[in-house]
Parts: sequence; structure tokens; C-alpha cells
Amino acid sequence: MKFPIFKTKIEELDKKFDLISPEGRKEYFEAKAGKEIKELREYLEENSFIAYLLGKKSSGKGTYAKMFSEIVAPDKVEHFSIGDMIRGIDQEMADEEAKEQLFGFLRNNYRGRMPVDEVIHALENRSTKTLLPTELILTLVKREISELEKKTLFVDGFPRGLDQIDFSLFFRDLIGYRDDRDVFILIDVPEKVIDERIRWRRVCPVCQTSRNLKLLPTSKIGYNDSQNNFHLVCDNPNCRAAVMVQKEGDKMGIEPIRDRLNKDDELIKRALGLYGIPKVMLRNSIPVDKAKEFVDDYEITPEYFYERDKKTGRIEIKERPWVVEDDEGVPSYSLMPPPVVVAMIKQLDEIFNL
Ligand SMILES: [Zn+2]
Repeated sequence: MKFPIFKTKIEELDKKFDLISPEGRKEYFEAKAGKEIKELREYLEENSFIAYLLGKKSSGKGTYAKMFSEIVAPDKVEHFSIGDMIRGIDQEMADEEAKEQLFGFLRNNYRGRMPVDEVIHALENRSTKTLLPTELILTLVKREISELEKKTLFVDGFPRGLDQIDFSLFFRDLIGYRDDRDVFILIDVPEKVIDERIRWRRVCPVCQTSRNLKLLPTSKIGYNDSQNNFHLVCDNPNCRAAVMVQKEGDKMGIEPIRDRLNKDDELIKRALGLYGIPKVMLRNSIPVDKAKEFVDDYEITPEYFYERDKKTGRIEIKERPWVVEDDEGVPSYSLMPPPVVVAMIKQLDEIFNL
């Protein structure tokens, strides 16, 4: 799968932006996509749209959707996660009154291949691993959406399986929300990027905050003499300098989710082949030898590494561009989220003819 490379470099613009702080990001977006953001804002005054986010697990779907909302129209754009919705349902199931209300809604609104009582039974006895029938998911989405005001939705987690992809063509009609535009947002992230995000993840044993030894360090780094390695120290003062640790399962990187990644890949390919629904194509990586032409240096994700002065024991945090192989084995840089969101904004602007 090869998505086109999107150019976010503007030759005349030689200012460097800080993409980490919200203020820096604001300036960056204004400089790189100010016109399109203004047009999208005006469009969202009177209109809304539904976007289906399709990308592999851990490809940053939520990050991109939330950043789009933050920059364009926080009060008009909602990240709608099917996973979060189902976790919410699990909580409702624990409360007798809420549960009865939910079942009442299903009895009135569910339609599908299973009798409604069987569906309710499945819901009550399911393990969190089993997938719920598509018809049930759609009914639950409809219920959830009827409680939202008319907002733009970034739907995350639907379609999930191949059997759901054709539904997505008519999802807008199925949920009876409105006649707005809908669009697929397809995200292409090299598996190596996902793998390293998992492998270098470190978690605070006290507050469970998750960071990354290579990509998102804490402000304090520790060193272990006997193991001769560096570790992250939790920034939360309540955790009393807890050493962040690697979870056992994370040592295997993407291997445990290989099946899921393959299925996600299949899903994206299938979506690419669908007609009649516009597609935004986002790619997270750019070949090293193309980077100068298409992006600015500060748009490239850095990797952090550490050096320790043997005499003083002082540890220095250093950074350099992070190089990973893409799925074709080409040495590539991974982009920071803001340039990917610039690509999303500009493509949406074009699709909606603004
Ligand atoms: Zn902590």
C-alpha cells in the first residue's frame, strides 16, 4: 500500500515552530493551513460531516481526530470511539436501572438477524474479547448519536471487520443522523513505527501513566549501574520518583497483535477500492531521501537517547531524527501529528470544495 506524499513544506516560510506546546501548534497551523482552517470553520457553522477513521491499531487515529477538533472547532467536532461506547455500555450493565433502560431501548429499536432477547443475552454474558453483532453496534450507535447535538463526527472503530465495510457506505443513512457529507480517512503507518511505540513504552507502576523511552521521555532520566541502562522516572510528584517499567507483553512488540494488524490492513485496502465516498489519505512516514523536498525538519519525529558523564553521573537527554523502515523496507522518517493533520485539513477543504 502506497499513499501519496503530502507536501507541508512552504519554501518562503523559514520560521521554526514548536509542535509540542498548544500555543506553538496554533501558530504552526495558522502559518501552514490558515486559509483552509478558516474555510472549514465557516463550513462547520452551517454544516457537519461524518468521517470514518481507518488505520491500523495504534496508528494514531484518536490523536489526529482530537488535534483536528482542537485546531478547527472544538465545540463542533466530536471523536466518537466505538470502543469507548462499548466500555460505557459495560458500565451501564453494572447498574440495574441503566441496564433496564438500555434493554428497553433495544426492544424498541433493534433490528437484525437474532431475536432481541438473544442479543440482550449475548450482551449480558459476553467476554470483552468477543465482537458484538454489527446490527447491535449500529443500534447502539444510533442511541448514542441521538443524544449528541448535530456535530461533526470522527467515527473510530467502525467499520471494524470486512463484513462491516459495506455498511459504512450507508452508515449515514442507517443511523438516520442527517444528510451531511461523509468521508473515509485512511491512515498509513509503517508497522515498524507501531512496533517501536509498543517496545519502548514504559509505564509508571504507581499512576499507570504511559510514556516512551525512545519517543516520549519524562523530564528526569535515571541510570541503573548493574544493568547498564537508562530508565524513565515518573514526573508525577505523588509517585515519588517511581521508575517506569516495561510491561511483559510489550517486549514482543506487534507480534501479539499481528492478526489484528493484517485484518486492519485488509480493511484499508477494501475501503480504498470503494467508489462514491471520498477518501482522505494520510501517511505517517516519508522516505529519508524525500524529506527535504516535502517537509520541514521540525515536522519529523525525533528519537531521544541518553548520555551519562562517568565522573559526575550527569545524564544528558539528546535527540536526533528517528529513522525506521517503512513496510517496503525503505528508510523513512515518521512525521509528528501536526503535519499529518495539516494534510487532513487541506484534503478535506478540497473534498468539500471550500
Ligand atoms: Zn506515576
